[in-house]
Amino acid sequence: MTEGLDPLGSRLRDLVGDRTAKVLDRGLGLHTVGDLLGHLPRRYAERGELTDLSSLRVDDEVTVVADVMDVSSRRMRHRKGTVLEVVVGDGRGRLVLTFFNQAWRERQLRVGQRGLFSGKVGDFKGKRQLAHPDYLMLDPTDPGGTDGPADSGQPEDADLAETFARALIPVYPATSALPSWKVAQCLRIALDGLGEVPDPVPPAVRLGRGLVGLADAYRLVHRPDDRHDVARGLARLRYDEAFVLQVVLAQRRWASSGLPAIPRPGRPDGLVAAFDERLPFTLTAGQQEVAATLADDLAESHPMHRLLQGEVGSGKTVVALRAMLTVVDAGGQAALLAPTEVLAQQHLRSIEALLGPLAHRGQLGGDDRGTRVALLTGSQPAPARRKALLDLASGEAGLVVGTHALLQENVDFFDLGLVVVDEQHRFGVEQRDALRSKADQPPHVLVMTATPIPRTVAITVFGDLEVSTLTELPAGRPTITTHVVPAAEKPHYVDRAWQRVREEVAAGHQCYVVCPRIGGQESDEDTALSDDLGPRPPIAVLDLHEALLGGPLAGLRVGMLHGRLPGEEKDAVMRSFADGELDVLVATTVVEVGVDVPNATAMVVMDADRFGVSQLHQLRGRVGRGSAPGLCLLVTEGEPGTPARTRLDAVAETMDGFALSRLDLEQRREGDVLGTSQAGIRSSLRVLRVVRDEETIVAAREDASALVSDDPDLGSHPVLRAAVGRLVDADRADYLDKT
Ligand code: ADP
Ligand code: MG
Repeated sequence: MTEGLDPLGSRLRDLVGDRTAKVLDRGLGLHTVGDLLGHLPRRYAERGELTDLSSLRVDDEVTVVADVMDVSSRRMRHRKGTVLEVVVGDGRGRLVLTFFNQAWRERQLRVGQRGLFSGKVGDFKGKRQLAHPDYLMLDPTDPGGTDGPADSGQPEDADLAETFARALIPVYPATSALPSWKVAQCLRIALDGLGEVPDPVPPAVRLGRGLVGLADAYRLVHRPDDRHDVARGLARLRYDEAFVLQVVLAQRRWASSGLPAIPRPGRPDGLVAAFDERLPFTLTAGQQEVAATLADDLAESHPMHRLLQGEVGSGKTVVALRAMLTVVDAGGQAALLAPTEVLAQQHLRSIEALLGPLAHRGQLGGDDRGTRVALLTGSQPAPARRKALLDLASGEAGLVVGTHALLQENVDFFDLGLVVVDEQHRFGVEQRDALRSKADQPPHVLVMTATPIPRTVAITVFGDLEVSTLTELPAGRPTITTHVVPAAEKPHYVDRAWQRVREEVAAGHQCYVVCPRIGGQESDEDTALSDDLGPRPPIAVLDLHEALLGGPLAGLRVGMLHGRLPGEEKDAVMRSFADGELDVLVATTVVEVGVDVPNATAMVVMDADRFGVSQLHQLRGRVGRGSAPGLCLLVTEGEPGTPARTRLDAVAETMDGFALSRLDLEQRREGDVLGTSQAGIRSSLRVLRVVRDEETIVAAREDASALVSDDPDLGSHPVLRAAVGRLVDADRADYLDKT
């Protein structure tokens, strides 16, 4: 079928006339028959069931099902003319409809009849009313309505009554210019004239999943006989969205598997072997499995594209480092990209600690089987930076750890073979691409994330990546106990929390205190945050630091860490905390990801309800990393039973990061779930919900992969190919918008 004959592409103007088409365009942004068919009911009213009128709020645009209870007409006192007052009700609430100088409507609005009434809820002397509402009587005795103005809302043709003859009445997101049933009427016309529709889902796939055809799906959602019809129609439309998206992602995977990459096979007698010998522990079964997968990927002649996810402390970094060393063994270089300076510094320290003499080839005390590790960050002094750049360009350094400074143009590599991105969600796709462009052939890419991502989100957001997961924590990892500290009901519990901190310190341990805000002169970020917050601004690092020093933690060594400190100072503070020179660190969420101080055993999170569930889970992963158990205290003024408090209780109850991230995602809007890097994809999702529709997404992914491996450029699936093109264009347009 050619594009030109696609009935979905035909103009609404040709179908419903200029005037209605204009309203559909202006009010709802609908231009084509396809647009209109995709304008789905917001809900369905049951013909047999009345709308709860008591729930209506003033200023709502509503469409209600109600019975006419009383009709009266009176002369106006101060003006000429009459008012027709019609009381409609649902048995509980009442609503007054008023019409001026339209007494003839009395014939249509008969007591005892049921109708749909649509308009904006107003308030007149304490009674809710609809002034000049549109209406549609469901069993009209006088369906003609010929004596009324054409746009009175009364049926212009008897068909309209038939439109609503069914038990379920679709209620559309409408505008005041166009009541819901006018939309329904347009849809009826569109559906009646709808023949065969080009279907992006190939018949074999459709039949395999027991899905109805596209035209049928539209009929089922717009003109259902019952809820079962709606469900069948929606299932098909949801599948479409999932399928087209997964085909895009499958094509990306397919394309990157066709790219050349330099294979970096392991060596039995190299750096990796020396590293394994040095390791003070054995890798868990999960780590070994992932390590083997990575080694296999690296030995391939197309680029690895893998996401490694795992709980905080599950040992991702060790596994990633091993992969980096594999590349060095094969003569290449590997870069580790961290989201912040603090994390880059810390990665450097832990890599150097794990490698020992292997990190200092050719230096005093160095091991010549080893390599060198460079650091590249934005705040580095110029000489250190020059040295790092030189070591990278010459290949002297096999490994480099850095922040986004690594992405700058003047950074050259001798032979970049692997890029490890830590905490992908802070890096855009564009940055990944920038690093990739630094090698002659695309380097292998490993993305690590400690934010557990439910499978569906992973395959939607990171659908072009293969996913590996570390599920177990290394054995002997101490437990972390979490308690909610109800500051409002039980203020003395807060005193007790500080007491606990003193006890931990007395036992030779260290503690974090985390606040939602820096304080002092507010940064833009802070003000943005405080916008939607309640009366009290969230607790700030600067204030609390002072208050603790002068009060509950007097006499302890209390440091401060936040994003507004200069890079060197941040590092100095972090280092002295790591070295045990500070007992307590009052900080913002800069301590969130990856910070590793094994001697830290307790964390107090202030205004814990200001943080997301997953974020809290991440935060508490900072304690209990050594041999002693961890304690996490979530201080909140949230009252029991409130959603905020319930979320905290959930965090206290489980250490299952996947369960918590699900909870987190369910509470967020779809756009936030998918993040900013996939805006085009995000806006393509209309009926699909990433968290809810797991089965659909998984099925679509299977079907898409199979189809793309058979027919990568969709040569024999022109309709699908066109749908894919539209999605990719939207994605690209959105990306260009932003840059
Ligand atoms: P992640 O990056 O997933 O948060 P890391 O790789 O940083 O985890 O590991 C957390 C801590 O556990 C580190 O101190 C690391 O040395 C240690 N560790 C990693 N793997 C093991 C293991 N198999 N057995 C014991 N300790 C381990
Ligand atoms: Mg780590």
